[in-house]
Parts: sequence; C-alpha cells; structure tokens
Amino acid sequence: MFGEGHAHLFMNGYDYRKAVETHKGHIREDILRGYLEEYRKRGITFIRDGGDNLGVSSFVKNIAAEYGIDYRTPVFAIHKNGHYGSIVGKGFDSVKEYENLVREAKRQGADFIKLMVSGLVDFSKYGVITSTPLSRDEMKELFQFAHEEGMAVMVHANGAETVRNAAECGADSIEHGRYVDKEAIEAMAEAHTIWVPTVVTVRNLIGCGRFPDEIVRKIYETDCRNIRLGKEKGVTLALGSDAGAYMVPHGKGLEDEYRTFQDIFGESEEWNEYLERGEKELRERFLRS
Ligand SMILES: [Zn+2]
Repeated sequence: MFGEGHAHLFMNGYDYRKAVETHKGHIREDILRGYLEEYRKRGITFIRDGGDNLGVSSFVKNIAAEYGIDYRTPVFAIHKNGHYGSIVGKGFDSVKEYENLVREAKRQGADFIKLMVSGLVDFSKYGVITSTPLSRDEMKELFQFAHEEGMAVMVHANGAETVRNAAECGADSIEHGRYVDKEAIEAMAEAHTIWVPTVVTVRNLIGCGRFPDEIVRKIYETDCRNIRLGKEKGVTLALGSDAGAYMVPHGKGLEDEYRTFQDIFGESEEWNEYLERGEKELRERFLRS
C-alpha cells in the first residue's frame, strides 16, 4: 500500500472540538494506538503528519515504529497570527518569533516545518477561501530560513496566486491546492514542488449534507480537472488524505484518496509508478538534514 502523505493523528474524522477535548492535558494513548492499527492492518508503512498544538504527533512519533510505521512530524504547524492555522499550531507576529518557532520545533524533534500560508476553502460558496494569504515576500523569507535550518517545508496553500507564489518561493510540498490554475500548476512543475491535493477531503463531502452538494460537486470537478492538468504538466503528485479531517477516517482515508485518483486516471501500472515516485520523493525530502 502507498504511504499516507498528510494526516493529523490528533483528529478523529468527525469533530475537531471533540478531538481537542480528547487529548487536551491527557493524551489518549489507547485511541492513538487504535488509529495506528488502522494504518498497520492496511499495510501503510509511512505517515507524514500535518501537526497539532497538543503534543499528540510528538507522542505518536515515539510509538509508531511498534506498528512498522515510518512516521514524520512537524510537531506543530506554524501560522502568522491573525491568519488561518491556530487549530493545528502556533502563531508568530514577527520574523524573529517565527525563527524561534522553527528552532522550537527542531528541539522537539520535528522532521520538517509545516507552514500555513492561506486559509481554508469555504464549502458553502464556490471560489471563496477564508483568511488572507501571506505575501510572496513573506513566504520567501520564511521558507528560506527553514531551509537554512535544514528543514523541508510542507505548505498549506489554496488559491492560484498563493500556490504559484509558494512554489516559486521554494515550498517543498503544496498541501490541498484548491482553485489552482495553469500558471500555478506550471510553477509547481518547474520548481519540482510535490503536490498533495488531499482531494478526498472534498469528495467525501458529497452527499453528506453538511454543505450544498452543487457547490461541493463543482469544487470536486475543478479539482479533478486541475489534478489531470498537473499530471499532464509533469507535477510530482503524492497521495495524502488529510486523515482526521471531517469525513476522512484514519487508514481508510488513504484508500479513498487512492480510489479517487484511480477514478480520475483509471487503473494502470504507469499511474501507480507515477504515484510511487511522488511518495519516494516525499520520503526523501521530508527528512531533516
Ligand atoms: Zn491537514
């Protein structure tokens, strides 16, 4: 089985607030072991976590090997205060504070840095992304410092301009990448950015009743078109489901993501090899140097 390129072990797949309640102040080892078992039994041997601010992923890093899993974590994600990201990490106001957070993540054993540079997709309105993105200059400075510290950068980014900027400024991977356009896709191809579209976070919302189906479907169709164009342009694509997010259970989320890619491209050896290359690159790049 492929590796899970984007998961949050601290989340439960249905309710963020409940997940926080579950682990705050007392990490629930039994629940986390249950999730790791879901991965193990499916033959998933690699997980790249997206971080949390409760110390859960750091904890999991110590026990994942018991399940035969190579588990990588940024410990917590980093965001600029006043922008999206506090649900999975720590915020900064000044560049100095950001640099201290990078050092803190390293001290706590981070394998790479996770940075939020845009908001979330609003599933009730087509084309809308919450929160203001970081500017190109900010991204450039932040990525550069992480690289100087020997850390790859996993970048949460939505929106064509934001993704293009992030790729051009040296993001190692783009997470989600909703609403990209041809230029953003070409920028990812050119810069050898790994794209982890986490498309099942959209697809699994179809028919769930939480958001208007016609909007969710339209976003999903846009995604399918963009992912197809991504492959056409030679973007390195990797599987990651954002497991733990709403409607994306641990273990099964990756199977759903893989099936979605099969629906988009059909089943073929060539396509499996393409995805294997993406995963190999994830494993190689998201290791602390
Ligand atoms: Zn995530």
